[in-house]
Amino acid sequence: MKTHRTVPSGLTLLAYLVAFAVPVVLGVAAVGSSPYLLSKVVPEEHRETVASFGTAAASLSGAGGGLFSPAAEIGEQRYTIPGTPVAHEGEWSPRLADDYPAPEGLVPGVDFAVEIVDDTYIAHWPCRHDVPVWSFDAPPGSEADLAWAVETLASASGLALRYAGPGSEEDRESRGAISVTYGDHPMFHNAEVAGVGGPAIWPEGLILQGSVTLRPDQISPVPGDPWSRALTMHELMHAVGVDHAARHSREIMAERPGPDPQMHLGTGDRFALHLVGCH
Ligand SMILES: [Zn+2]
Repeated sequence: MKTHRTVPSGLTLLAYLVAFAVPVVLGVAAVGSSPYLLSKVVPEEHRETVASFGTAAASLSGAGGGLFSPAAEIGEQRYTIPGTPVAHEGEWSPRLADDYPAPEGLVPGVDFAVEIVDDTYIAHWPCRHDVPVWSFDAPPGSEADLAWAVETLASASGLALRYAGPGSEEDRESRGAISVTYGDHPMFHNAEVAGVGGPAIWPEGLILQGSVTLRPDQISPVPGDPWSRALTMHELMHAVGVDHAARHSREIMAERPGPDPQMHLGTGDRFALHLVGCH
């Protein structure tokens, strides 16, 4: 975790990292037709098994974990540095969760969830502040999907997110920005974890920093790949303070994705973005 290195002593900071699992069903169903999917979804030691199973294996890899997934735990880490709050920056004020009841038909914790600080405040970025999203070590072909995800989230949330291109080392730790790194992360020792993302949260829910790490082998070299886009969107949504919806729900923020990657925001996703956004 790099986020808490940049925080001056005397601040309280909560940093969340939430992992996103690989959709095993997708990988198995695609065996034979797509070597790319096979290599990106199935751990090497299982590949022969998967290949011999072929599409019949798809029916074995349904709910409850599937063929190769002994119920992977979704990781979450939290760091606290004791101290006093920072002054609020720009147009920002605390947002009380009680002021935002769920609309009819949406169930909190099932259809959507956001980060709540002290059981009281909805964590959110400042509005009317440019939030650059920098990429680091982005593989060829990935840029268009990242730009697409940033634009989609900006439009749906009203947050002033913009894709800013490859960042420098300085940008990686800069406050007021989101970093998207294509590379390794300690949580990736679990072969099912495809990406992690989260915000750094100051007292009363002020978010001033976000970080995302994506496993490069989960990103297609061909722009427009549904899984690359779903994964990128999911982790970016963590970075703006959105938490998981129920497993296999038709939301980008589903705790575990279903067989079809969600490329489009669900109604729960949209309400969560309203809670953390600027509309
Ligand atoms: Zn997640």
